[in-house]
Amino acid sequence: MNIVEYPRSLQWVGHLRCNHCQGLNEAWRSSGMSDCFPHFFCSRCSNVIHREADKAPIYAAGKVDADVLAQIAATLPYCPCGGRFTPGVGPTCGHCQQKIDLIKDPVQYLQNPNMVVMDGACAFSDERPPYQVRIVG
Ligand SMILES: [Zn+2]
Ligand SMILES: [Zn+2]
Repeated sequence: MNIVEYPRSLQWVGHLRCNHCQGLNEAWRSSGMSDCFPHFFCSRCSNVIHREADKAPIYAAGKVDADVLAQIAATLPYCPCGGRFTPGVGPTCGHCQQKIDLIKDPVQYLQNPNMVVMDGACAFSDERPPYQVRIVG
């Protein structure tokens, strides 16, 4: 697994607060310019997948709606951890192991380009090999 290190000093490295335990999780967040949409988190861990191919059904429909979401969701793969990339689930808190409520509306979230990759989590793509993010200081 490739490892990408992001220094804490970067603008796009910050803390994601868990809405359950209020714990802070270091994470990297892609800029809006990166077009990392749509992306989906694993149902079990904090891994995340972003596939350029998933833009096609969105553009074909000309909008995001429940049908487009269902169409993409049906093709989402399993994560190496045994979970599955699933709409509507956020990353997993490193303190309490609960899912952080990052996604209010799974349909609208299809358009969110700001992909959060937690420290230690892996990002999967259909265009490049997977990589693990490490926040370093
Ligand atoms: Zn927590
Ligand atoms: Zn996983």
